[in-house]
Amino acid sequence: MDRSEQALFQLLEKGTSGVMVVKEAQLQLEAAGFEELRFQQIWGLKEKGKYYVRHHDTTLFAFTIGEQLSFRDTIRIGAAHTDFPCLRLKPNPDLTAGGYAQVNVEVYGGAILNTWLDRPLSISGRVALASEDVMHPCMRDISVERTLGVIPNLAIHMDPQINKGKELNKQTDLLPILGFAKEEKEHLFLEFLAEELCVKPDEILDYELWVYCREKPQYAGINEELILSPRLDNLTSVQALLTGIIESERREGINVVALFDHEEVGSRTKQGAGSVFLKNLLERILESVGRTPAQTAASLYDAFFLSVDVAHGMHPNQMGKMDLTNKPILSKGLCIKEASSQSYATDCEAVAAIEQICKKEGIPYQKFVNRSDIAGGGTLGAVASSFLPVKMVDVGVPLLAMHSAVETMGVGDMKALTDLIRAFYLI
Ligand SMILES: [Zn+2]
Repeated sequence: MDRSEQALFQLLEKGTSGVMVVKEAQLQLEAAGFEELRFQQIWGLKEKGKYYVRHHDTTLFAFTIGEQLSFRDTIRIGAAHTDFPCLRLKPNPDLTAGGYAQVNVEVYGGAILNTWLDRPLSISGRVALASEDVMHPCMRDISVERTLGVIPNLAIHMDPQINKGKELNKQTDLLPILGFAKEEKEHLFLEFLAEELCVKPDEILDYELWVYCREKPQYAGINEELILSPRLDNLTSVQALLTGIIESERREGINVVALFDHEEVGSRTKQGAGSVFLKNLLERILESVGRTPAQTAASLYDAFFLSVDVAHGMHPNQMGKMDLTNKPILSKGLCIKEASSQSYATDCEAVAAIEQICKKEGIPYQKFVNRSDIAGGGTLGAVASSFLPVKMVDVGVPLLAMHSAVETMGVGDMKALTDLIRAFYLI
């Protein structure tokens, strides 16, 4: 197994919610000697320093400072998202129907709903508990490492038309079954959650809990040339950025990794790429290393931003869905994504710079553009660029079945992406 795939498999298994993705990122950064900072403190940054700062438990920024700082030092930013389409638990979650115990959920992001049926499911996220200090509830992370539930399909015998396509109702058709209702346990899930956290149920005040798919990442194909896993969108990008910043020690300039939440619901939140966070962070770093406000403003305009998120590979059963001349194939390299609508950051000078890195380092790459009659998706890059008008490119590995509970990628593309990020932070 390639080293970049090994790191990816570990993150795919452990990163069961945005909270857990940030926790795993933190572990990797600490093991590499990064020091935690808090936004609420004054920073004393040093040359050759490696730092990270978390925000709201689902967002993380990491940065390194070169050993030789000067006014002309360049800033390299790589950004990805920590969230993924799934189901989210509502407050007062316990439900019973026909003797079954269930939980009430809503859909988060643009999930392919049918793919969540008949899957092993569990719960991950964070819980706010009662505390003495009312303004600071006790926050606890949780990722249940066993299968807690399932959303079963209806048998074809009861719905003979099912193979003609079935629209699922987001409220009533997606309620996971957790077992059987028990009279002595009126709130089966909340009581289970309290037991897991070793607290009383009435100490649980609120939570952000996500239903995650427990399928494991695995190789597939006669020659094991494919990888199947939940959450490839966008943990491939998160891991490539972490490896890149950890392994690339640039002598000059500042390298930054920004991991945002809420990309799947539009990014325009305080944890999303649409907040002023990244710009504030960069200004704070530059001021902390002694730049004047005028030098800070000048440096910001010299920054280069890589928005890292997955692309669509060509599906052999649906070849008509691809563009006529740009048809990325899995395992043939990372994708540079372009769109005239600017739903992907599209800046030809910046694209050419990334192509030159790929050519110099022998990294395979392909270009992705949507078919002209298909709108396609967007990325956080376009949103972030309105706050940080710098050179920007969208890159990522090609997938099949993006936003399915289990997505497919090609072996080798993770190495290509990781090699690019490493070179981006080094050159
Ligand atoms: Zn994505």
